[in-house]
Amino acid sequence: MNRTAFVILLSVCLLCATGLAQTACTTGDHSEYTKKIKEFTTEPFFITELVDHLPYNSCVPAPDVHLHHIVGAPDVLDYTKEINAYMRLLASKTPRVKVMSIGMSEEGREMLAVVVTDEANMAKLDRYREITARLADPRGLSADEAQKLIAEAKPIYWADGSIHSPETGAPEMLMELAYRLAVEETPFIQKIRKDSIVMITPIVEVDGHDREVDVYLRHKKHPEEAPYPLIWWGHYVAHDNNRDNLGVTLALSRNMLKTFLEWHPTVMHDLHESVPYLYIMTGTGPYNAWVDPIVISEWQEMAYHEIEEMTKRGVVGVWTHGFYDGWAPNYLLSIATMHNGIGRFYETFGNGGADTRVRSLGPANTSREWFRPNPPLPKVKWSARNNINMQESAILFGMNNLASNGPKFLNNFYLKSRRSVEKARTEGPAAWVLPGDETRTAEQANFLNLLELQGVEVHRLEKEVRLPAVAGNAPPERKGGDKDKDRDKDKDKDDKAKKDDAKPQETVLPAGSYVIRMDQPYSRLADTMLDTQYYSSRDPRSYDDTGWTLGALKNIRTVRVTEASLLDAPMKKMGKIELAGGIAGQGKTLLINHNTDNTLATLRFRLPEVAMEAAEEPFEADGLKFKAGSFILRNADRDKIEKAAKDLGIKIHATRDEDVKVASHPLAVPKVALVHNWINTQNDGWYRIAFDELKVPYTYVADTVLRETQNLRQKFDVIILPPSGGFGGAGLNTALRGLPMRGGPMPWKNTEEFPNMTATGLDSADDIRGGLGYSGLAALEQFVRDGGLLLAMQSSASLPFAAGMTDMVTVADPRTMQAPGSVLLSTIDDKKSPIAYGYDDKLYLYYRQGPVITVGAGFGQEENTPRSSGRGSAADPDVIQGRPYIAPEKTVKRTPREQELYVSEELGDLARWLLPAKDQQPRVVLRFAAEKDLLLSGMITGGNEIAEKPAVVDVPHGKGHVVLFANNPMWRDETMGSYFLVFNAIMNFDHLNAGRETGKPAQPHD
Ligand SMILES: [Zn+2]
Repeated sequence: MNRTAFVILLSVCLLCATGLAQTACTTGDHSEYTKKIKEFTTEPFFITELVDHLPYNSCVPAPDVHLHHIVGAPDVLDYTKEINAYMRLLASKTPRVKVMSIGMSEEGREMLAVVVTDEANMAKLDRYREITARLADPRGLSADEAQKLIAEAKPIYWADGSIHSPETGAPEMLMELAYRLAVEETPFIQKIRKDSIVMITPIVEVDGHDREVDVYLRHKKHPEEAPYPLIWWGHYVAHDNNRDNLGVTLALSRNMLKTFLEWHPTVMHDLHESVPYLYIMTGTGPYNAWVDPIVISEWQEMAYHEIEEMTKRGVVGVWTHGFYDGWAPNYLLSIATMHNGIGRFYETFGNGGADTRVRSLGPANTSREWFRPNPPLPKVKWSARNNINMQESAILFGMNNLASNGPKFLNNFYLKSRRSVEKARTEGPAAWVLPGDETRTAEQANFLNLLELQGVEVHRLEKEVRLPAVAGNAPPERKGGDKDKDRDKDKDKDDKAKKDDAKPQETVLPAGSYVIRMDQPYSRLADTMLDTQYYSSRDPRSYDDTGWTLGALKNIRTVRVTEASLLDAPMKKMGKIELAGGIAGQGKTLLINHNTDNTLATLRFRLPEVAMEAAEEPFEADGLKFKAGSFILRNADRDKIEKAAKDLGIKIHATRDEDVKVASHPLAVPKVALVHNWINTQNDGWYRIAFDELKVPYTYVADTVLRETQNLRQKFDVIILPPSGGFGGAGLNTALRGLPMRGGPMPWKNTEEFPNMTATGLDSADDIRGGLGYSGLAALEQFVRDGGLLLAMQSSASLPFAAGMTDMVTVADPRTMQAPGSVLLSTIDDKKSPIAYGYDDKLYLYYRQGPVITVGAGFGQEENTPRSSGRGSAADPDVIQGRPYIAPEKTVKRTPREQELYVSEELGDLARWLLPAKDQQPRVVLRFAAEKDLLLSGMITGGNEIAEKPAVVDVPHGKGHVVLFANNPMWRDETMGSYFLVFNAIMNFDHLNAGRETGKPAQPHD
């Protein structure tokens, strides 16, 4: 069919494209496409004049030429390869489009940034990039020069689609948008093209997108089969892939961040789909407390412009406020917001694919509110095209707004950048310092390199600096550092130390300390990462984590310095920080101090054939101090070890064997299984990232495999249950049942027709139904009984408890406590437990909502109830009238640890009999701090429910152990401080009884 037959000829453009100057391009309306837009739009109030048609240009192929369907057609979705190919086709046909590769995903798919602007701007693209870079770092730029640059510059609007794989509309829409922006000749579009630069990333989560398209099309083509859930939204995590902007560990985060720092877009706009019909982000607050208030106004201003334009045209259900809060900086858009740009997002209504369906909504979505004066309707037919119309119209208003007000927005960008540089001397602090005498050097370097990746400059002090005593300096330094050496002294001294703590003290920063100056462009990002967060329980319920203080979560010391004089101290700007590792000293025995740097786990698993031992006590050799858990390598191949030490930046001391006098046991290289189910793989994704990054090998194994495996102990030494499902009974129910055993088997495998279901590092199965089942639970119990180690994290801790594997330990849901992702203090309760090897006295943990772990059978608990009414005061004893006074028995003060398994003389033999033998009793390794000391960052109410309760507890069961974690030790690549609790447990899985208080001698070498 001759396409031009459908074109209404409006004009003949001889120079539509300078690159194609010789060609006369025919333009007009693409009437066939336009007709279909109208056909697939279900109501006139779901469309605007901006998108109710598509222009035609004989030189530039419209999306349907390449895709064989219009954008927003029912029941079709396109793969990454097709979408990328269309963008490249566009670029090959018009000089107004340029395609850049911005990097590859974990599974090897390509991410793009597509530039659309007019020919003149395209020719000067490098110049415009130079200007935004200069405005982004205005140090040394005069106000006049800045204004000249702003007058010359073009603002950049970066739209990105589908970071969340089930949200499929944006990748389609962005093809049409790119085409429309390139060929349409209305003044509205010309304005955008002439006075701004548009960047488009059609798909952020390319791996998950292709998997989603497989799952969607599979159901379309085989409606007789059960519909598949999307097991892996990306290679690692699901929805959380936009909670990676503190850790920056996913390929997509790195690619987007790198592109942002190259281009400095004025606006970065993520396109999501989850609420009706079009939510334009501003958020409920509390807003992130570290960003410039200018950006808060920009959010509102841009949102209301688009709401007004859409509403004026009679479009229904466009609203703002609500939905999210704007507090945590861990969304993709925060790449922009934390780097002085404007990060924003839409949520439109999706049907989980391209279905057309009648959708009913309840009052939560349809009520009229001050922020939603024109709410969605109770019942409408919704189509993929509606979704395209809403997204595309609104973002075009946004783009036109930016283009029409370029100098204003660019000036704001410049101002925000300048005020970030001025921050050190206006609001402060002046700097954050990571002391040069940090013991966890690898984690410190790791964090500093993360800052560098984020564009934050790091300097290093050339000389020691002493800062006068000023309130505000110092906190929130990590409290569990090696400065706490004297902490175990008597209580009087503790009290005195507390009083001293209250007084400002001189701060000594040793030479070699790292300084993160707050007079640099991205000071606000660094301050956000390092400061403590206070989230008031008065505020609206938080959307995500409320606390994230990274120094604490990574267990590295940080010092907040308010004294601006520090900025004048001699210091050198650093690049990537590489640690010097190697072997010092002579002798055939090599010693590695256990400092809980996670590279030690890498070393152990990198050299599985090398015999290593763990010291069971602290010791000294050649005048050097080594902590409990330090590695001892006897008769080792020095060259081989030295190479590994250099690669990993680990310092090793060589000595003579007879100089090492300490009990020790072999450090294992166990076979580790990391369990996933076939419902949600999000939380295990963060564990896989941690293990993959540190090169600690594991087998990724499905719950359904545990169910079908007879002897797990033969296959594995350690099984890890990452947090999955809900807490308590609900979580157990889901774990046991899995996907319902309805219909026929549901294989999860790549086929010729659907080749994106799985990938290297993921899993496949003949049938994904049925969950762990009773036999899987029994197999796990037998595994532990046979000497295996089961690690049950956070919500998964209820599983071994409910299965009767945790004698004297209860796992429960909190009653009223609210802890929506906070940083809490714990103390090491059993320093001799191998799980605590290398740690100091205290450790900050990431904790979210539960569980509450209790040790003890409940008997022997002292009465804590307040006294009854009577004479005197609450502290006074009562006096009964008419008889001689008899004083009450003096209550014995016991620590929580002493109290937990205490059996009073009053109790009978049964109670004593119920208590397991000493060497089978649970061992609390970490304990949450007292309520008043519990919270470092975020929010907690009802903290008394977990105060002084176990955070990590080791429970013997048969020949093996179950270790329960109330915290989540591996979370979003932020909690490196608690990773080693996991690695210690793994590497000591067969010697967890070492150092038990029973007086039993240390176990002999195997
Ligand atoms: Zn989303």
